[in-house]
Amino acid sequence: MKVVTQGLSVALLLGLGFSAYAQKHVHGEGELLIAQEGNVLQMQFIIPAADALGFEHQAANSSDKNAINVLAQQLKNSSHAIDIKGQCILQSTENSLAHSHDEHDEHDEHDEHDHHNVEATYNFNCKTPVVGFSVTLFNLMPSLNALNVQWISNTGQGSTEVTRSNPVISWQS
Ligand SMILES: [Zn+2]
Repeated sequence: MKVVTQGLSVALLLGLGFSAYAQKHVHGEGELLIAQEGNVLQMQFIIPAADALGFEHQAANSSDKNAINVLAQQLKNSSHAIDIKGQCILQSTENSLAHSHDEHDEHDEHDEHDHHNVEATYNFNCKTPVVGFSVTLFNLMPSLNALNVQWISNTGQGSTEVTRSNPVISWQS
């Protein structure tokens, strides 16, 4: 496999570098994938729906649908996910809740155990490359206890874990 080069888009870096890590599903634990290329910082949270929403079934009633809509709106505000202390400007964000109602096609691999994740991506532009931030998502999701973090930058890659009691991530730029 080709070594990841600087010319690739950050979105592609995420797809190439991290696809192997996004497979497991443990309640209370999420995944955070970070890709940094110069002043561009992109991240993807993958959280069990049990922790993000409190349930993993398809929305069954108006209460479920309301919970989905509320979280979808909250996740659009990046301060609910991370605190990066004003160093970066949010360029775009997406989450799987905003368009999840009819998308059943992607669940093939998970049908036998019927678990679902909520995914949210954030694209930032930073005045200077940052080397860390604090995760605020734990405040929004009381049953989420830890995130397995994978990061990749122009100069290297690595992994770490953040927890509710120690939510600060730092990496080498
Ligand atoms: Zn589950």
